[in-house]
Amino acid sequence: MRRRTAEPYKIKSVEPLKMLNYNERKEALENAGYNTFLINSREVYIDLLTDSGTTAMSDQQWGALMVGDEAYAGSESWHHLEKAVKEIYGYKYVIPTHQGRGAENLLSQMKIKEGDFVPGNMYFTTTRAHQELNGATFVDIIIDEGHDSLLDHPFKGNVDISKLEKVIKEAGPEKIPYVCIAVTVNLAGGQPVSMKNLRDVYALCSRYGIDVMYDATRCVENAFFIQEREEGYADTAIKDILKEMFSYSDGCTMSGKKDCLVNIGGFLAMNDEELYIRGRELVVLYEGMPSYGGLSGRDMEAMALGIYESADDNYIAHRVHQVRYLGEQLIDAGIPVVKPIGGHAVFLDAREFLPHLKQEQLPAQALAAAIYLDSGVRSMERGYVSAGRNKVTGENNKPKLELVRLTIPRRVYTNNHMDVVADSIIALYEKRDQIGGLEMTYEPPTLRFFNARFKPLAKNGELMGNTASVTTHS
Ligand SMILES: *Cc1c(COP(=O)(O)O)cnc(C)c1O
Repeated sequence: MRRRTAEPYKIKSVEPLKMLNYNERKEALENAGYNTFLINSREVYIDLLTDSGTTAMSDQQWGALMVGDEAYAGSESWHHLEKAVKEIYGYKYVIPTHQGRGAENLLSQMKIKEGDFVPGNMYFTTTRAHQELNGATFVDIIIDEGHDSLLDHPFKGNVDISKLEKVIKEAGPEKIPYVCIAVTVNLAGGQPVSMKNLRDVYALCSRYGIDVMYDATRCVENAFFIQEREEGYADTAIKDILKEMFSYSDGCTMSGKKDCLVNIGGFLAMNDEELYIRGRELVVLYEGMPSYGGLSGRDMEAMALGIYESADDNYIAHRVHQVRYLGEQLIDAGIPVVKPIGGHAVFLDAREFLPHLKQEQLPAQALAAAIYLDSGVRSMERGYVSAGRNKVTGENNKPKLELVRLTIPRRVYTNNHMDVVADSIIALYEKRDQIGGLEMTYEPPTLRFFNARFKPLAKNGELMGNTASVTTHS
């Protein structure tokens, strides 16, 4: 007999959702210039824009806010946070920061010199920006499979060891301040790195005397994939997998807004005492005292608890399974999604979904708009619009991938919400030929995806073509 599982939490406090009708959604979409970033959250039914800072905290965490110690120096809450990081991640020293990029700033400033190279398994926007700001060149060392959206591979975030060794030999180890390993790889779709690969990277770097720094933002999701997929780890607790993962590194930057289960927070951690002493000086300039780093005492208290809660086997199994629960419904309906489904999001392949649109007709932007119009579900474009223009030629970049990202917040929605999302996308897929393209009417000079505005292409008249046929979820 089939035995189903359910959310490993029960609901104690609710935030009622407003459900707009079709005409209200249409108006909201027009007001937002067909850009899902510009829709007000009160106009959204199910918000899958991002998993960053959108977590639901537990009753324990909410309770802990009240006991947060707001002392300027030596806060008790700081000691709780420090203890949690040491216990769960195993590093010797911790410096709190207001979020992940605060830690990236400190690390890049302390370690990078002009002309250095920082190898990494695919870039992340803020991580690479801080490396470049300090004079380094980022070098991508992810395996080729990581760039192939349709290829099934259990550890698509892995480092290609021969690529890494080549960079080290060509640049010279003295030009490589550290190797940055993201667990999991966000921009590859939340794809994990295997324990064997982490071990191999660390062994190689140790031979050359190079530090390995993790971008630990989604480390618990990575640990779950190791438990699920890597030989020898099926019976190992997530806590123990995390400990082993972190033992193959010298430090990490962390965005608490993801796997630490809080709405704001982050930290930099390391084992090197000298680096810690320098970091303790620098954090004062950018974030605050080393005992709060831009956070209130209650933020640190909540993050300390979130770190323990996230390392629970039942929590993380449900988390990753919920993402997959949505993805598999779409796959079963024949909808093109990026495979395998990663730890935090499901990505729709908009070019396959809307083959009648050219990339210049913005299929991913159009699909994200159509999903909102159909059901009030908010997603995000990751394609032609996000890729922006070439800095030198001014030409539009033409990214290989034209995707719509459905990002699942942690502990926020039930699987029933996932069903609503799946139904909407499946209904749209059945009438996909009616979804017309978009054109940009306002293009901001930088990071255009945040504020750009669009309108339906004239020849389609309406975004959906024949809107009269759209009757779902009034
Ligand atoms: C979110 C994120 C960051 C930056 O963290 P913030 O808390 O948003 O500053 C860094 N790396 C990855 C992989 C992320 O997803």
